[in-house]
Order: sequence, then C-alpha cells, then structure tokens
Amino acid sequence: MKTIQHWINGNPTEGSSTETQPVFNPATGRQQSHVALGGATDVDAAVQAASAAFESWSESSLTQRTQVMFAFRQLLLDHEEELGRIISAEHGKTIEDARGDIARGREVVEFACGLGDILKGSFSDQVSRGIDVHNFRQPLGVVAGITPFNFPAMVPLWMHPIAIATGNTFLLKPSERDPSAANFVAELYKKAGLPDGVFNVVHGGKQAVDAILAHPGIEAVSFVGSTPIAKYVHETATAHGKRVQALGGAKNHAVVLPDADLEFAAGHITAGAYGSAGERCMAVSVAVAVGTAADGLVEVLERKAREVKVGPGDTPGTDMGPLVTKAAQERVENAVGIAAAQGATLVVDGRGLKIDGHEDGFFTGPSLLDNVTPHMDAYREELFGPVLAIIRVDTLDEAIALINANPYGNGTALFTASGEAARRFQRKVKVGMIGVNVPVPVPMSYYSFGGWKDSLIGDSPIHGPEGIRFYTRPKVVTTRWPRPAAQHAAAGFAFPTSS
Ligand code: NAD
Repeated sequence: MKTIQHWINGNPTEGSSTETQPVFNPATGRQQSHVALGGATDVDAAVQAASAAFESWSESSLTQRTQVMFAFRQLLLDHEEELGRIISAEHGKTIEDARGDIARGREVVEFACGLGDILKGSFSDQVSRGIDVHNFRQPLGVVAGITPFNFPAMVPLWMHPIAIATGNTFLLKPSERDPSAANFVAELYKKAGLPDGVFNVVHGGKQAVDAILAHPGIEAVSFVGSTPIAKYVHETATAHGKRVQALGGAKNHAVVLPDADLEFAAGHITAGAYGSAGERCMAVSVAVAVGTAADGLVEVLERKAREVKVGPGDTPGTDMGPLVTKAAQERVENAVGIAAAQGATLVVDGRGLKIDGHEDGFFTGPSLLDNVTPHMDAYREELFGPVLAIIRVDTLDEAIALINANPYGNGTALFTASGEAARRFQRKVKVGMIGVNVPVPVPMSYYSFGGWKDSLIGDSPIHGPEGIRFYTRPKVVTTRWPRPAAQHAAAGFAFPTSS
C-alpha cells in the first residue's frame, strides 16, 4: 500500500521515522494508503531547505515571482479534474464540489498575480526641505501553514500563494486525513518553475505541529482548523515569538424574514447546510425563522432535505458525499439522537443511511431539527455534519441578539426583500462575513477572509490585503541628498521636525 511522503526541497522525501497513519476512502470505508507522520527532524529538514531557498527567492524579481504565479495558476486550471478526484477520494466531497474547492483557492493565486501592483509602496516628496520619505515591504523568511481536512486545496491556497509571491518560503502541514492534494500542488509548483525549497510539505499530526510552533527558524504560522486547536496554536506560537493568524470553528446562522421568497431561501439554505456534508466552516448550521416565516419555511426545508441525493462523491448527480471518517459519522449521528432527547423535533432523520454497494462508507443523510433552543447541544456545538437546526424567534432584533450571543462569529446570512432590514442586520451583527440573500458569503480573494469572536483568534484575517500585511514587514525610509557643502543646513540636536 502506498505511503504518502513529505515533500522537501523539491522532492518526495521519506520521513525520519516509519510512523504512519491510514488514509481512508470515506465512500467505501476502506483504507487506501498511509501517510507519513513527521516530527521535529522532518520539520527541521524542511526549515533548513526553506531557509536556504529564502536566500535567493527573497532576492528574485517581482517579474520572476509573478511569472511563476501565472504558470501555477494555469496548471491548477489544467489539472482541476485530476486534483478534484484526488480530493474527493480522500475527503468524500463530490468532484464538482472539489472543483469549487480548487477554483476558490485559485482566485488567491490570481490575486497574487497582481503582485507588482499590490506590493507598491508610497512616496512622499519634500516632507521637509530636501527630504523625501518612501516605504516598502519585505518578506519575513520561512513561514508555515497548518490546515484542516475540509478544504485540502482552498485553505492552503489562502496562504502559500501570497506568502511565496511576497518572497517568503513556505512549509505546509496539511491535514493527515486527506494529505495527497498537498503533494500534488507541490508538483504543480515545481512544474511552474518555483525553485526547490520554496514550497515544502511535512505531513503529520500534533507532533509535527508542535515542532513547527517551537522551531526558531519559522517566522510566522498561519492556522485554520477548530477553535480549541486555533487557541493552542495562537498561544504557543506567539509564546515562541512568531507572528500568528489562527482561524477557528463556526456556527453560522441564516435568518429568514417573513418577506423573503421562501422557496429561494430554503433552496439556498439547504445547499448551504448539506453541501460537502456540512463540513464547511461557512456551512449554514442554524436557520433562524422569524415570525410568520416559520411554518412555511420548515415545510419547504423538509421537502428539499428529502430531495438531497446522497452517494459517493465520484458518482455523477450526487449532491452530498459521506463524512470524512467513521468517527465523524458516529459523532454526528450521536448528536442528532441527543438533540431529539433534549426536545428538538426530528423533522428529517438522516441516521443509519446505507448506500447500495457502499455499505461500509461513512454516510449519514441530511437531518433537519425544528424547535431547537439555544441551550441544546445541537445549537451550542459545532456539529460539522449535515444537520440543520431551526430556531424560531419573533423579530429580526431577536435574531440578531441570538447570533450575537453565540460564541462564534464566522458567517451569517439574511433572507429578506427589505433593504432597511438588511442594512440593520449587517450593521448590528457581530460576525465577520455576511450574506444578504447569499447563504455562504465567502469573500473574493481580493477581500480578506475571517470571522469574529471564537472564529478567529488574534487579529489577523487571511488572504487579500491582510495576507500581504501578514507575510511582510514594512520599512520606511527617510532620504536626503545634500547639495554641495556651502548649502548644508547645520545639524541640530533637537528631535527632528519638518520645516
Ligand atoms: P482540527 O483543528 O482538528 O485540525 C486542524 C489542523 O490541526 C490539522 O492540520 C491537524 O493535524 C492539527 N491538529 C489537530 N489536533 C491537534 C492538536 N491536538 N495539536 C496540534 N495540532 C493539531 O480541524 P479539522 O477537523 O481538520 O477541520 C475542521 C475544523 O476546521 C472545523 O472546526 C471548521 O470550522 C474549521 N475550519 C475553519 C475555517 C475558517 O476559515 N474559520 C475554515 C475551514 C475549517
């Protein structure tokens, strides 16, 4: 059985230990490969390669870096189907959904292709007599990304194109559950002309992460994953003097007002809740039905949940694949049982679903829970599965208060025909990414992505302008070119002011 190796200095590299972890095909439930589990020695080897590469990469021209990004972008496009199949086979999502995973990541490469414009500094002429000021930004050095299983292409692509385009070298520690996409991307970078050592991959779990957080040769760490690990990464890496961005989990509410088109709202909420089996940090996990919208909304949501086609991700026509692991399937089905025991109405019960020919796959069907209340576990916990909870409230202000009391603040959406309601909602809600009649409001790459509260630890959203800021440091230069000696101003001992 194949072992997925690390990728260090431009080549697949065997780990320092023989420790591995099985990688499954979630649709069949069968193991399909092993992944190497790296530790401190592997991380150190990758950092050494990345440090050596930084010497020349940080000196490369903007033109060279831009050309690599253009070539890489084209290769991502050319290989979208192949990479989509790799992702689907390890994650379980449909191939079409995996293509979306790649396409949304590719947008960040497109943003990075505009490097020449993005990295322009500014210049102030004659701030004082004969003195000008300009600024520019420089790369940090070796930087690392630690990423979750749910977007094996897009989330790492939020990080490395910007880090690399701005002149850094990169070490990726992808999820051990679906590791192959990282190596495929490494091969594409090599084909695009990226010098060896600029992009490296070390596979593994906690041991590899801990080695990254403590390594003195790593300047910055980008993390995306669950909130407890985001907090741990933020605390540990900042304690080691690193710059950190750490994005965490979510509980995303979609609010439906009585004036909304219920068929439209329910269709989009269903896709947002059950797409990718609910394993998205921007998945709609709570529908907040306001006033008289409730009964009609539940009726359409039920019909649409029953219409979702569940099956293997590589079967055409499938809407929703399996969960990523057996443990995830058991956890989600258990949570549905607890919700019912705590008093939620089980409108659609997705538990126990068996798919013909894939009886051992990690499938569960869409579940729809009505009359959920804020104290129930199904509301308080991020279930990360195909479960949609409905909470009924009387007014928009009550819906906003509910969202603001939730510890997470990643995404939210409002379905309405009222501009006034939409404006009030977007101004009052304590959430980072907001959709108005858009269920999954993932910002374009030239904006930045990030939630509020427990969905983002620290203060740095990811990609877009914030990504440029995160992966670079500013310098400000004050310049004087004196005229011949007779015209010199005398040097003064008082603190310099402009005149
Ligand atoms: P996870 O937190 O279990 O794992 C994320 C990364 O951390 C992986 O690389 C993993 O190997 C590593 N890790 C896991 N346990 C660790 C430990 N104890 N110590 C050190 N490192 C550890 O997350 P996941 O299950 O892979 O992904 C799902 C989570 O990610 C959900 O909570 C989801 O909301 C979140 N997510 C958030 C965003 C966002 O933008 N806010 C995007 C995608 C996913």
